[in-house]
Amino acid sequence: MKQFRNFINGEWVGTGRTFEDRNPIDNSLIGHVHEAGQAEVDAAVAAARRALQGEWGRMTVARRVELLHAVADGINRRFDEFLQAEIADTGKPLSLASHVDIPRGAANFKVFADLIRNVPAESFAMATPDGGEAINYAVRSPRGVIGVVCPWNLPLLLMTWKVGPALACGNTVVVKPSEETPATATLLGEVMNEAGVPPGVYNVVHGFGPDSAGAFLTAHPDVNGITFTGETRTGEAIMKAAANGVRPVSLELGGKNAGIVFADADFDKAVAGIARAAFENSGQVCLGTERVYVQRPIFERFVAALKAKAEGLRLGSPDGDGVNMGPLVSLEHQAKVLSYYRKAADAGATVVTGGGVPEMPEALAEGAWVQPTIWTGLPEDSAVIREEIFGPCCHIAPFDTEEEAIRLANDTPYGLAATVWTSDLGAAHRMGSALEVGICWINAWFLRDLRTAFGGAKQSGIGREGGVHSLEFYTELRNVCVKL
Ligand code: NAD
Repeated sequence: MKQFRNFINGEWVGTGRTFEDRNPIDNSLIGHVHEAGQAEVDAAVAAARRALQGEWGRMTVARRVELLHAVADGINRRFDEFLQAEIADTGKPLSLASHVDIPRGAANFKVFADLIRNVPAESFAMATPDGGEAINYAVRSPRGVIGVVCPWNLPLLLMTWKVGPALACGNTVVVKPSEETPATATLLGEVMNEAGVPPGVYNVVHGFGPDSAGAFLTAHPDVNGITFTGETRTGEAIMKAAANGVRPVSLELGGKNAGIVFADADFDKAVAGIARAAFENSGQVCLGTERVYVQRPIFERFVAALKAKAEGLRLGSPDGDGVNMGPLVSLEHQAKVLSYYRKAADAGATVVTGGGVPEMPEALAEGAWVQPTIWTGLPEDSAVIREEIFGPCCHIAPFDTEEEAIRLANDTPYGLAATVWTSDLGAAHRMGSALEVGICWINAWFLRDLRTAFGGAKQSGIGREGGVHSLEFYTELRNVCVKL
């Protein structure tokens, strides 16, 4: 049975207070996770502070870049271990984790290492009142100790998306992985030691949110900034904690993203794109689409085609032949998603397909399975259309005009992403500027260049990460003015 311990100052710290880590495909026990209390969080933050003042703080950028490349290489060398750990924690198909989660986990270190090596700094020459001259130049310093609080849907990918730039900028981190998915953050501690990253630069504390490691970390006065990915309500709690000491936050939060399909779109590509956006990773992608709006002339045909896609999905264990959909992350999340399936039925939805729990082979019967589900016919103010479900499901409604599509898509407190399908170049650009989101895809979904800005509008987040945008959060910009 595995033991997931905290990683503090380069060492493994057990606490004796453990909780279970279970595999959602069959609810089998993977191992025990050692919950960090206030004392362990204090020790991790203190180790991170000492590391800033030690070798790591004095290290040249060139050496830091070398170490981050070594970390990426270390992930790639132990690719299969990361893969097995991630699929055991999440149940996601091996094909997905091996193409997305683990490669991106490694890439996040390389991309930001290369960025920091090449980032330019601004400078301005100025005239002074005495007729002389001065120059101004900007210096970027690390912010200090960064608290990193992560969700469970893309555990390694989303964690390294923050740890990569934080370390590249010279900070140290204390990571609180999701209680549902402790494995890959723990394994990364081994890679850090193997790569020669000094102790205290990367720390991991396990546990839950309120009254546990998450709250202890975000309330800690010696944490200089908090980066968080997760639900909007949790983001609010973290923002309140960060207000003490006026500490900055970067928040990547929930979404209720719209997919908009115009009648002139390439039909097959649009169906395939929306199917991915609704069902990939069992719908547990913040950028996924739970509200689909389809222009009326193709509405019926589109609903039938998406139904066929949903019914063609193959549910099963991660390494099963042709499997392209796994369970939800936990029985608790299954209960939440099923409660929305019931709400949809109660509100009078037409269930196009799914709506319940699939029949699975006996060995998987205890897992957190739900059917991929499509509804039509719900009013726009129903809970299923207003609230983030985070499951493999979507509601499809017709629209007539571009203006109506924009109004429907924007009628939400969230503003993370949108995916638009059309062959009209003008409409595409108009949608790109009218939709109130952080990311708008045209004839695509989930295409990411890691140099571009990533983040949410409205209640989907604060700040942008990605490329040079990450520097705004992970560094403090100082102006030095020199009178010549
Ligand atoms: P969650 O908010 O429940 O938990 C996220 C993390 O916060 C966990 O590690 C949890 O232990 C911790 N936490 C919970 N309460 C806390 C508190 N009071 N103080 C400190 N830490 C606390 O989110 P989740 O269920 O793990 O993830 C799913 C959510 O994440 C969805 O809403 C999804 O949209 C969002 N998400 C957003 C993005 C994005 O980039 N915008 C990406 C992925 C997921």
